[in-house]
Amino acid sequence: MSKFNVPICPVCDSEKFSDFLSCTDFFVSGEEFQIKQCDSCGFKITENIEDEDNIGSYYQSEEYISHSNTSKGLVNSVYHSVRNYMLGRKRRLVEKVTGIRNGHILDVGTGTGFFLNKMKEFGWHITGTEKSENARDFAKKEFGLDNLPTEDLFKLEVNRFDVITLWHVLEHIHDLKSNLEAFQRVLRKDGKLIIAVPNHESYDARHYKQFWAAYDVPRHIWHFAPKQMKQFGEKYGFKLASMHTMPFDSFYVSMLSEKYKKSKMALFNGILHGKISWLKSIVNPAKCSSVIYVFEKN
Ligand SMILES: [Zn+2]
Repeated sequence: MSKFNVPICPVCDSEKFSDFLSCTDFFVSGEEFQIKQCDSCGFKITENIEDEDNIGSYYQSEEYISHSNTSKGLVNSVYHSVRNYMLGRKRRLVEKVTGIRNGHILDVGTGTGFFLNKMKEFGWHITGTEKSENARDFAKKEFGLDNLPTEDLFKLEVNRFDVITLWHVLEHIHDLKSNLEAFQRVLRKDGKLIIAVPNHESYDARHYKQFWAAYDVPRHIWHFAPKQMKQFGEKYGFKLASMHTMPFDSFYVSMLSEKYKKSKMALFNGILHGKISWLKSIVNPAKCSSVIYVFEKN
């Protein structure tokens, strides 16, 4: 097995890095991972992780809620009670930024299919890719969706999609270059690329430091902030059109971070710091726990 490390910054091509933070995989393995930062642009990268073929074992958890439907535990039940609201919010955002109602959408890393199923219900022509066979099976059983394995992304028809969405997916993808080039190919000239990722410049990231749940090592390989995301998009021929907040992420991530800290007042503190993060993001979306970036083709 070979480890995955990057000697060159995927955002700015610099070769100079410094140590940033040592984080624990609180979710699955309990192992320590180092995050390094690019000296030039500040982009952050989890070091020495398993490669694409071998990282699967770090996703083996009953609690991995992106891929499951469990409602056990307080944090999970809060998550599930807001999921429906968030699905509606994502749909409305897609329709607002594209200006269309029933176009062709590609959702990359579509997971168990809740979002695409919602889009289908509202008349969209849907295509989804997903690495996990279990998640694809779930989407098929639950919603009758035929999501594609990830490698099929590279076989999709050129200029096919009005919009491509990645909801908390880009930070998990090893091969950024070939994915971004594929998005450029399959997106129509006036199409939109929507990428939601955690923001390491958020209030909650700075408050929780190594306990910040959205570092989520080693599953999160890349750690973006707005300036780096803008530059990264430009590198692949995309122009940043707008940024949007994900208010519930401030609360969810703060509560999960309190859990990782083994805080005695996890709920109280999680809501408190979630609220501070959320209030700051109202003033400035670039400070939200997670940011939704809308790109258009250059
Ligand atoms: Zn850099």
